[in-house]
Amino acid sequence: MSIRIEIDGVSVPTEENRVLVDVAADAGVYIPTLCYVRGKPCLGTCRVCSVRVNGTVVAACTVHVSDGMTVEVDEPETVDHRKALVELLFAEGNHNCPSCEKSGRCTLQAVGYEVDMVVSRYPYRFPQRERDHASERIWLERDRCIFCQRCVEFVRDETTGQKIFSISGRGAESRIEVDAERADAMPDEQIRYAVDICPVGAILEKGIGYDVPIGRRKYEVESVRDRAVGAGGGEVTPT
Ligand code: SF4
Repeated sequence: MSIRIEIDGVSVPTEENRVLVDVAADAGVYIPTLCYVRGKPCLGTCRVCSVRVNGTVVAACTVHVSDGMTVEVDEPETVDHRKALVELLFAEGNHNCPSCEKSGRCTLQAVGYEVDMVVSRYPYRFPQRERDHASERIWLERDRCIFCQRCVEFVRDETTGQKIFSISGRGAESRIEVDAERADAMPDEQIRYAVDICPVGAILEKGIGYDVPIGRRKYEVESVRDRAVGAGGGEVTPT
């Protein structure tokens, strides 16, 4: 059913029940995302897409639009709320962008630029989680994981549908795990997909690193904002 919602004071025509992040992007309004992938089920784990809907702060990827809905994206308190969430993610992991293999194609780094983050307002935790090298094809830089669960839900054994990645532990003890046997059986394209779908540099392919020259890396060619809005909401190809 055709409806209208209001985004930052502008009336936007759309269809009922579409995901708010997609509707906003189609209207040229960028809402940062880290766990959301257009066309995939909502994970709702990172909350970086928080906006005000009818006055209440909610994650836009979890909202299905309805007629008359009022959305505030560019509202100062909510803008700062999103920035704080990004800063928190930087503080909770070891994100040393200049030395990271994912630099220039890392969505967290790109979103950091979009929210004008310079330094985190929160104390850095400098976690020490053991790297996982058990797979012959990939390795895990666990200190960079933001626990978005993209790999857990969207990278599956193509034959059985079983999960290849999982999260163990709770709270500060949480860490990303990989089933090395299943990972080693992944086709090359799926390995590249797993690396790409990770919005940080936590999943890396062995034998490949720094392969794209500075200046030609993904977000240097097109900003995360332009990719999201150009794709019509969320990224069609992950990260
Ligand atoms: S390894 Fe990457 S994709 Fe998987 S949960 Fe961590 S940040 Fe997300």
